Amino acid sequence: MSLNSKQNVRCPKCGQMTDVTVWNSVTVSDSVDLKQDLLRGQVNMFRCPSCGHAALMPTPMLYHDEEKRLMISFSPCHDPILKSQLFDNIRKTSKESGELSNLEGYNLRFVTDYNELLEKILIFDNGMNDKTVEMIKLMILSQDVDKSVDRVCRFGKRDGDEIEFMIYDARENQTYTSRVPIATYETVDTSLRESGVKPYSFDWEQVDGAYATKLLQGFNN
Ligand SMILES: [Zn+2]
Repeated sequence: MSLNSKQNVRCPKCGQMTDVTVWNSVTVSDSVDLKQDLLRGQVNMFRCPSCGHAALMPTPMLYHDEEKRLMISFSPCHDPILKSQLFDNIRKTSKESGELSNLEGYNLRFVTDYNELLEKILIFDNGMNDKTVEMIKLMILSQDVDKSVDRVCRFGKRDGDEIEFMIYDARENQTYTSRVPIATYETVDTSLRESGVKPYSFDWEQVDGAYATKLLQGFNN
């Protein structure tokens, strides 16, 4: 069930007070419009009617797509230590409450970045798995190893027989696109399955560049 609350927020720029609807839970089956707002980056985004200042509300949100058996726990956070504590916490509470047994066959993801949340929704909406997509992103970034530290690669869209990725280079302040054939996705996906990577979760997972790097190291060893 989608759940929200109203918060009265003071604009950090101009001091104007505004009522903001904050969503703690978004369930796709009962709120298609809300999902569209989320994909447009409008959910839990504070916008000051007086000065136009925009900022993400620091509210955790649970995204649930029952049909796709996908649950994403989003906790806005930029601090790596806090991130790791939050992740340990969700694993611990899920285990203690026994909720994991109700989520068999699910993909359970933990993210702390809004763009990563939206990216994961898009990947699963396109019938793909983010573990495979993260491997391909790593392959794309490794084509230019020297620049990879400044770059963020995100799934863009599925376009016919190709997947389009967006690569943002922070140093150059430029965005590039990279296109990968669907056949490459399928090859990588098959090899992941053959190596024992399951298309569902046994617990909450962080599926990101670090995850893909670990998988790759497993292959090489
Ligand atoms: Zn303002």
